[in-house]
Amino acid sequence: MMTKKKIEHYRRRLLEKREELLCALDRHVHYGREADQDVAQDPADKASNSYLKELLFSQSTSDRYILALIDEALERIAEGTYGICVACGAEIQPKRLEAVPWARHCVTCQDLQERGLLRELER
Ligand SMILES: [Zn+2]
Repeated sequence: MMTKKKIEHYRRRLLEKREELLCALDRHVHYGREADQDVAQDPADKASNSYLKELLFSQSTSDRYILALIDEALERIAEGTYGICVACGAEIQPKRLEAVPWARHCVTCQDLQERGLLRELER
């Protein structure tokens, strides 16, 4: 079982990361707008402009994905199920939580999921 102190440690890390991602998303929106205002006539500039926008877009997509995972993890903390694999119910290894505090799966299930073999239980 995880101690309250440990949970508080992860909760703080999740909140910090959440803040960081929200700031990054803000910046992306800002850069995206600047890139828009700065529309150059040169086709080469235009191409790099749209490349930049695409890059920012894919970056913010993965940021949004992690944000959603962080929110889920915070919910699990509130429900008292944090640190438990959502697929098999095993405890997630502390090392893994330390590296990825928003992890939903234990290493075994994560591996299955990455190979498309995980059938998740309905929540
Ligand atoms: Zn598992």
